Amino acid sequence: MTTPPAAPAPEPISPVQARALAEGVLPPVEEVRPGIWTLAVPFRFGVPDATLVYVIEGTDGVLTVVDPGWSEDGSLDALSDGLRQIGRSVSDVGLVAVTHLHADHLGAAAAVRRASGARIAMHGLEVRALEDERADAARHEADIATWGVPHEFRSGLSDAWGIGRRIGLGATEPPYADVLLDDGDLLPVTGRSLRAIWTPGHTAGHLCFLDEPDGLLFTGDHVLPRINSGIGLGGRTASNPLGDYLASLARLDGYAALEVCPGHEYRFADVVSRARTLVRHREERSRHVAEALDALDAPTLFAVASRVPFSGGIESMRGFLLASALTQTAFHADLLGRAGEIRPA
Ligand SMILES: [Zn+2]
Repeated sequence: MTTPPAAPAPEPISPVQARALAEGVLPPVEEVRPGIWTLAVPFRFGVPDATLVYVIEGTDGVLTVVDPGWSEDGSLDALSDGLRQIGRSVSDVGLVAVTHLHADHLGAAAAVRRASGARIAMHGLEVRALEDERADAARHEADIATWGVPHEFRSGLSDAWGIGRRIGLGATEPPYADVLLDDGDLLPVTGRSLRAIWTPGHTAGHLCFLDEPDGLLFTGDHVLPRINSGIGLGGRTASNPLGDYLASLARLDGYAALEVCPGHEYRFADVVSRARTLVRHREERSRHVAEALDALDAPTLFAVASRVPFSGGIESMRGFLLASALTQTAFHADLLGRAGEIRPA
C-alpha cells in the first residue's frame, strides 16, 4: 500500500524566509507591515530550527512581542539583536503575547518581563497546564506502562513524556501570565486590533492572533506551511485533542485572504487551503489506524501504531517522537470510537 504524495507546501509570501529555510540559515529581520516586523530566534537544537518572532508597535510606541522564542539560561541575545536592527530594545516591550506554552514560544517571556516590566498574555489553560505539569507527568508515566512498548524502545520515554518531562522546560516562572486571554479577547495594544482566537489541539490553550486591519493572522504552531503540527502536546485534557484540533482548523475558514504569520518556517498565503491539507493528513492517518484495528486482535497501542506509516517509521522513533506517535494513535482510535479495542499492556 502506498501513501499518496503529500500536497505541495504553500507558496511563501516571504521568499527570503523560504530561502533561508532551504539554505539552513536564520532569516533576516523583515518588516511585514508598517510597524510590524518579524525576526528569528534560534532554539537550542541549533540553526535552522528557529521561532519566527513578531514585533508589533502600538501607536504609543510600546512594543508587543508575539512569541519571544527560546531563551537559554535567560539570555535575550537573539531577540535583543533583532530589536536593535529596528532601532529598538527589549526595554521598549510592554506586552508579550504567547500562542502556547512550549519553550520555543514562551521560553523567553519571563526574561523579557524581568528586563522590561512587560506583561505576559496567554490563555488560562496554558497557565493551568504549566501549574499541573508535574501531576500530569506522573499520570503520563502511568500511561506509558500500558502502551505495550517493547523494551528496546523504552529509552528516553520517561524523560520525554513521563516523570522526567518538563513541558515548560524550566525556562519560565510563575506567574506564568499577567493577562489571561480568552477566545475573542482583544490584546491590550494601543491603536491596533489584535484579537485572540482560541485554537486548541496542538496544546489545550493554543491561541492564534488576528490582525484584520493589517490582513495578518499569527498562527503559532496551529498551522505551519510544511510541518504537520503535533497534537495534544500540552497538559492533559478531558476532550480529545485531535477532535479539538480539527475543529480549530475549521475555525480559520473565512480567513483565506490573510497573510499567515506562523511560528516557524515562513510566511505564506491561504490558511484555508493549508488547513484542508492538514485535515486530509489526519483523515489518512485515521484510515490507517482503522485498518490496523481491523487487522489485529486485541492489540496494544504500540502494535496499532506499528502499522501506521509515520514518516521515518516507528522503528526509528524513540523518546518524544515515539510518545507523540503513540498518543496520536490513541487520539485517532478514540475519535473513531474504537479506543476500547486497544488492550492495555
Ligand atoms: Zn513551536
